Amino acid sequence: MSFRASIITLYPEMFPGPLGYSLAGKALEKQTWTYDTVNPRDFGSGKHRQVDDTPAGGGAGMVMRADVLASAIDHVSGPDDQRKRLLMSPRGQPLDQKMVRELAQEPGAIIVCGRFEGVDERVIEARNLVEVSVGDYILSGGEPAAICLLDAVIRLLPGVMGNVESGENESFESGLLEHPHYTRPSIWEGLLIPDVLTSGDHGAVARWRREEAERLTRKMRPELMATPDKKK
Ligand code: SAH
Repeated sequence: MSFRASIITLYPEMFPGPLGYSLAGKALEKQTWTYDTVNPRDFGSGKHRQVDDTPAGGGAGMVMRADVLASAIDHVSGPDDQRKRLLMSPRGQPLDQKMVRELAQEPGAIIVCGRFEGVDERVIEARNLVEVSVGDYILSGGEPAAICLLDAVIRLLPGVMGNVESGENESFESGLLEHPHYTRPSIWEGLLIPDVLTSGDHGAVARWRREEAERLTRKMRPELMATPDKKK
């Protein structure tokens, strides 16, 4: 069964974009995941197919209309659709690996990409949109956020990562950042690979990696140490 993403966007040509390359691109070819886009413009109001309007109460910028967005959502998703409806939004729940893992178990997702000042509040409740943020900064639109989210989900779909183990060691999967990596040449600009990694002692290598993961996490992201197992 393939993961189906329906993306509601004023810029459908941004997709698949980066998701057409590498792991995600190959998975798209194999139809491990599929996507469709819906342009709210097609449901816009009046001769000019207007999708936005001035904010109630005044102020700068424009707001995406609830009626137009709802029509676009209803076009891809009927009452039987089991997929979650996500709204990319800076005030949403911060995207993390736990959420990514959960989404990868789903049949797909409907992803609404905001533009302008955002969307009319009423559509969020009326269409049950779950707000998801990709970080504490403001993008000009939801599309790059949707691409981040989908990239993270797609690599966890069955068969996408060649080496399953490489996914399990990854940063955050264990609640820690990953240990450092080295490869040939063994001396580069006078810098050596740590001896233990070339010792052939697998137990010592595993211990070193665990210690380095903890050291790096404490140094770079101390707050992650407080909740060592994010899988729970
Ligand atoms: N006026 C809003 C920002 C709107 S940015 C505010 O101050 O909160 C326009 C659109 O970009 C948003 O509707 C959302 O879909 C997307 N977006 C911006 N930053 C984002 C983030 N950090 N995570 C997810 N989506 C984001």
